[in-house]
Amino acid sequence: MNTTPPAVPPQTQAKTHAQRALEKLGLLRDIDFALHLPLRYEDETHITALRDARHGETVQIEAVVTSCGIQFKGKRQLIVTVVDAGEECTLRFFNFYPSHQRALAVGERLRIRGEIKKSLLGWSMLHPTFKPAGGELSQVLTAVYPTTAGLPQGYIRKAVWSGLLRASQRGELSETIVISHLPRLADSLELLHHPTPDVSVTELEDKSHPAWQRLKAEELLAQQLSQLQARRERAKMRAHALPMNASQASFDKALRSALPFKLTTAQERVQREIAADLALAKPMNRLLQGDVGSGKTVVAALAAAQCIEAGFQCALMVPTEILAQQHFAKLVGWLEPLLAARGLSVAWLSGTQKAKERRDMLAKIESGEAALVVGTHAIIQSKVTFAKLALVVVDEQHRFGVAQRLALIQKTTPDLIAPAAVGEMSRSDKGVVPEPMHPHLLMMSATPIPRTLAMSYYADLDVSTIDELPPGRTPIVTKIVAMTKRDEVVRRIVNQLKAGRQVYWVCPLIEESEAVDLVNATQTHDALQASLAVALPSAKVALLHSKIASAEKKALMQAFEKNEVQVLVSTTVIEVGVDVPNATLMVIEHAERFGLAQLHQLRGRVGRGLAASACVLLYALSESGKLGDAAKARLKAMVDTTDGFEIARRDLDIRGPGEFLGARQSGAQMLRFADLSEPQDQGWLKWAQATAPILLDTKLDMALRHVERWLPSGASFMGA
Ligand code: ADP
Ligand code: MG
Repeated sequence: MNTTPPAVPPQTQAKTHAQRALEKLGLLRDIDFALHLPLRYEDETHITALRDARHGETVQIEAVVTSCGIQFKGKRQLIVTVVDAGEECTLRFFNFYPSHQRALAVGERLRIRGEIKKSLLGWSMLHPTFKPAGGELSQVLTAVYPTTAGLPQGYIRKAVWSGLLRASQRGELSETIVISHLPRLADSLELLHHPTPDVSVTELEDKSHPAWQRLKAEELLAQQLSQLQARRERAKMRAHALPMNASQASFDKALRSALPFKLTTAQERVQREIAADLALAKPMNRLLQGDVGSGKTVVAALAAAQCIEAGFQCALMVPTEILAQQHFAKLVGWLEPLLAARGLSVAWLSGTQKAKERRDMLAKIESGEAALVVGTHAIIQSKVTFAKLALVVVDEQHRFGVAQRLALIQKTTPDLIAPAAVGEMSRSDKGVVPEPMHPHLLMMSATPIPRTLAMSYYADLDVSTIDELPPGRTPIVTKIVAMTKRDEVVRRIVNQLKAGRQVYWVCPLIEESEAVDLVNATQTHDALQASLAVALPSAKVALLHSKIASAEKKALMQAFEKNEVQVLVSTTVIEVGVDVPNATLMVIEHAERFGLAQLHQLRGRVGRGLAASACVLLYALSESGKLGDAAKARLKAMVDTTDGFEIARRDLDIRGPGEFLGARQSGAQMLRFADLSEPQDQGWLKWAQATAPILLDTKLDMALRHVERWLPSGASFMGA
């Protein structure tokens, strides 16, 4: 591994700041610099005559200054006129110093570069760069690099180029993989950093040039190699086998008969897939995806039952406390009679629990008495020690970061069974520490992973899909309504309430501060209460938000479940999992501010019973009277479809894979160059998938070198 300090020019004063900025960009090793590729290029290889310039083009001209002076046109500005062969162009500067005026003095002949505009008043350029005319022209296109605040282009350019030079001198760019019709890596990098004028700028900028193809192919290969490695590592891990024997089958049957419904065909199928995985002595790594309301919870309960019946513990991690309580109530209802008979119990953990209660819970978890543990991310804290954890279920997995999920599967337990089963000398007699047992992992999500991403990022993940909703659901009708027509919405609410139904009203996160959001939600609540007091005095409106104490929250939710409260105004705390089938109308205020996945989740709170349900997306225009394109696309997607898969596909289109996977927060490495929505790159992905195992099996050292080149040490690609 190479940890040589980066190639920063010796501008000592800026150094520490600049170095920090470089680190922020992930630029540490020479090879990182070499692989930091230009965003675009500027052509400084020729001079354009002013009369040949085209509107909107970035050009380099040479012209003589004919006037230069400061003017006040609303704002103080420096206005300079230059002339080239009789054509005139006006240069405008808002930020300028006395040195500008000296350099732009009348009579000076200058080389000027910038975006040129033509209007009725003639040619003009805003904030062009300039230097004395004459001088040699650049032989190559000038690369413009992605950068960050406080890191000037000239600085990063020098750093990248010297990094490239050093990496190349040290042989770090030597071939790890030959791709017949593409240039070698070293040549590709040379070309991309210093393209000669004969190279097509379009091919460079749309990344179709063979040099780019080489980089995308290499990047995808590194990704596939690192995932394959991770998969092979995982294959070596051991887990408790939880077979479905006769007693388990009867447990399963008892649990099913306790349910108020029959499982759908899809639920039966995914349950079988999961049961088969759990029966193996290697850790399951499975995603259970199914649209909101498709009934994932009961499938998790059956998996938990299989685990508990085999004598082990199961942990269920959920993103919010309300959801933890709901699951707790439901799972207790389903599982407790069966647990009680065996002297086992259910424990729950949350961040806001009273100290004593928490201690009791921790003790039950450590002793193994609690066979099922439900909680928020409080579960992953190091203080929580499981006696014999064998299954971890993560609900709404996309709400957790990669690190949190990893922490859960790291909750290993010692191998309890093996030493006894071995019979002869126990392992500890031999001085061997018992091998840690990893829990089986079941992740659940209503936000399905689109196929292209699943192929590339989650190659190591098995996926089960619930593709049907329980019978008797009526489709939800979605309407977009301007905030100015709020009265219409209130009438809709009154109609639902008169029909004995219940309503959600969700307020968005508007400000950075929770306090402000609370004020907004409170105002909405008060206004709604006032409107309803006239139309329907018996209706009860309640307000739910994150500042409410947890016991009170629970009481409020219960009151809503029992229909003692008819309208629940809330901030986004109800986002996930809440299940009240009598609620038939969901109003989302400032819907334009929500993400698509979030809107879909929220809408999924209604349409859970037999009655027809509706979702109203209230939107407001920005101060400039507009609705952004992305917001428009999101709202349109909501009206067009209720299919979670289609929603996820559109979300990917709108946001791009990086944000979609939430990698920004998790810090996991994303693909930088390959774009899996491009058919050509999908082709490279297939190639990488086929090549990775061969390289790993036949040329391990090269494979490792290749991964090392592309992955900063310690980082890993998503899913790995
Ligand atoms: P999600 O997949 O969104 O987590 P839930 O597990 O919360 O969905 O289930 C939604 C609702 O459907 C719950 O009220 C649940 O009890 C109910 N349900 C689940 N499976 C069935 C089924 N097979 N038939 C009828 N209702 C079901
Ligand atoms: Mg759920």
